[in-house]
Amino acid sequence: MPIIRVALNIPVDTLFDYQATDATGHDVGLRACVPFGKKWLTGIIIAVSSETQVPPEKLKSAQDIFRDVAPLPVALLDLFHFCSHYYHHPLGMVVMNGLPGKLRGNKPIKLKESSNNYQFSLTKTGKQIELSSIPARNRVARRLFTELNHSAVLTRADAKQISPRALKLLKEWIQLGWVSIIPVPAVTLPKTAKIPHLTHEQQIAVNAITIEIKQFNTWLLHGITGSGKTEVYLRIIEQVLAQGKQTLVLIPEISLTPQLEATFRARFPTTHLVSLHSGLNDTERLSGWLQAQRGEAKIILGTRLAVFTPLPHLGLVIVDEEQDSSFKQQDGLRYSARDLAVFRARQTDIPVVLGSATPSLESYYNALNGRYRSVRLQSRAIENAALPMIQCIDTRTHKIQEGLSDPLIKALDKCLAEKHQSLIFINRRGYAPVLLCKSCAWTATCQRCSSRLVVHLRDKQLCCHHCGHQEHFPRACPHCGNQDIAPFGQGTQRVEDALAARFPDARILRIDRDSIRRKNAWHNILQQIHAQAVDILVGTQLLAKGHDFPNLSLVGILNSDASLYSTDFRASERLFTQLMQVAGRAGRANVAGHVLIQTEFPDHPLYHALQRHDYDALAQTLLAERKMAGFPPFVYQALLRAEARNIQVVLDFLTQASHLAKPSQSIEIFDPVPAQMVRLKGMERAHLLVQSLSRRQLQEFLAKWVTQINTLPTHKVRWVLDVDPLEF
Ligand code: ADP
Ligand code: ZN
Ligand code: ZN
Repeated sequence: MPIIRVALNIPVDTLFDYQATDATGHDVGLRACVPFGKKWLTGIIIAVSSETQVPPEKLKSAQDIFRDVAPLPVALLDLFHFCSHYYHHPLGMVVMNGLPGKLRGNKPIKLKESSNNYQFSLTKTGKQIELSSIPARNRVARRLFTELNHSAVLTRADAKQISPRALKLLKEWIQLGWVSIIPVPAVTLPKTAKIPHLTHEQQIAVNAITIEIKQFNTWLLHGITGSGKTEVYLRIIEQVLAQGKQTLVLIPEISLTPQLEATFRARFPTTHLVSLHSGLNDTERLSGWLQAQRGEAKIILGTRLAVFTPLPHLGLVIVDEEQDSSFKQQDGLRYSARDLAVFRARQTDIPVVLGSATPSLESYYNALNGRYRSVRLQSRAIENAALPMIQCIDTRTHKIQEGLSDPLIKALDKCLAEKHQSLIFINRRGYAPVLLCKSCAWTATCQRCSSRLVVHLRDKQLCCHHCGHQEHFPRACPHCGNQDIAPFGQGTQRVEDALAARFPDARILRIDRDSIRRKNAWHNILQQIHAQAVDILVGTQLLAKGHDFPNLSLVGILNSDASLYSTDFRASERLFTQLMQVAGRAGRANVAGHVLIQTEFPDHPLYHALQRHDYDALAQTLLAERKMAGFPPFVYQALLRAEARNIQVVLDFLTQASHLAKPSQSIEIFDPVPAQMVRLKGMERAHLLVQSLSRRQLQEFLAKWVTQINTLPTHKVRWVLDVDPLEF
């Protein structure tokens, strides 16, 4: 009797054996539903064998093997295996993390997606029919007909909502010639854009990559903002499409998908494109995933999870904004989609292109030492589009009122007079970051997190931006009873108010996570900006990434100093990237750009490098610092993270774990320390850092160590290993 070995979504890194009468070797990669304890679980068949270590009396039978969807391709299973080994995470959990939700359930799926791809519409003949010619007693028919008359098209779902009988009626009407079937357009097709002539630099980049299009290379496409990296992607994709192959494009933010999707569709109007991101519902995601798996979708555009899409004809991988931290998952399986993208490309022997204006120091270093191939775009693609002029406003000499300095206000005035758009960047939403009692210095803090509550004046609420906790504004200081409590510091809402007071005629639009909550908010915002219906934008880093605002000429940056002297060794790198991105929004077309940074430290090397647009200078400085201090990319790190209700329990657990580790020359083990933010959502957190000069030795160490940690009593402690951690 054949035995199937199944990876299940449980925190134990082992396969489970079951009898399955009808299983064959071809079933590897299929889902199987099996009994587990008192429950049923669905997992992936990793192997089919004729023997097992499980004694016959304990061996159970699989309930079902689902053959609704083709088995996962071997390459994808290999990716899951690699991911499980590298991140020391149970295989079953890795697999289930990567599969669409609908495939994780204990039932086979019903595929009716193809039938969802059409809609119904009245024909010319249909439109001439009088409603009165349908007998009044035939209520369903009348309603259906009225609906068809009112709305241009009706989807299957619309029809079904009217009545289960509606589809049958529609079929009759199709035969009568009243109704026609039309395919659902994926999205409204944009006007086909003109294809620009490549700049000299773009041409060199495209040539370099396409000459070696059929083999593995990691390309670092290092191009300043506005240098036209997208056009380079498009030209390479064109080559890959010509071979009939698929391209996977990973992007950091779901908010960027519509813009990029429109660009891709305009360039390749007849190419089958799917986008896979967290904004989709389960059905949509499954549908896109299946189109990719069947090889129908040629361009797959997605956020980090899309790296786990089965792609039988993969020919190219692109990771746009490769430095972005959203490529790293920050809970559960802490994988880096960028690094897995490189693995996939190597596995398939195809190129991977990492694009960025400010590469991560890891990638930059890899390009320096020849592991990655570097291609650079040093000037802006559009003729006459110069880089913006960047200046610091010294806030020690210029007075600040409500967050704004005089020079910035003057510049805004000028910009308004010239009918150009401006952007004020402040990376903090809400009205003010602190509620302060002026007499005893009490501040409002979150009960469940070690953080301050942020003042949201309009809702009269205090909110924790870490756990979502909200409470009413207190009338008086809960500590001393004084009524003189007031918001302290600036957030986007406060700056918006200050601007509205100073520029009553200007049209001001705030963009942060609070203002884009509504459905379609992003879409509307972008439309308003492009229609010149906005004069001043106020926003957080949501605004910084990738968007192209042709009429924007002034960028003001407030409150960025805090990150200059952070204890996090990556803070400078992140700040630089962020400021380069925001600054890059200015002066993208024919409008000259100007960037003003309000700072107390105008002579800081970071601002100097920024003013000269000199990424390399800063990168070299930071790399030298990291080398001295022994930080990545010169060492490889892993973090054992643990949490419990009580910090002492966590620290004790970590101490025990560190005692399990055998000291060795190649592995450095640090003392357990509380996390930067000790309390989060009611849990107290700490971690233990291990590092090594050798990735291989670190991996070997971790494999043994994790097995040992698994034997510790973890009473009340939750732990996880974070390989290549980005946050501490
Ligand atoms: P990046 O992603 O490198 O910041 P984009 O790809 O957004 O830059 O390109 C910036 C602008 O330059 C876009 O408006 C794009 O249409 C335009 N562009 C790109 N390549 C060319 C070219 N060869 N000639 C003219 N315009 C170009
Ligand atoms: Zn007080
Ligand atoms: Zn909180």
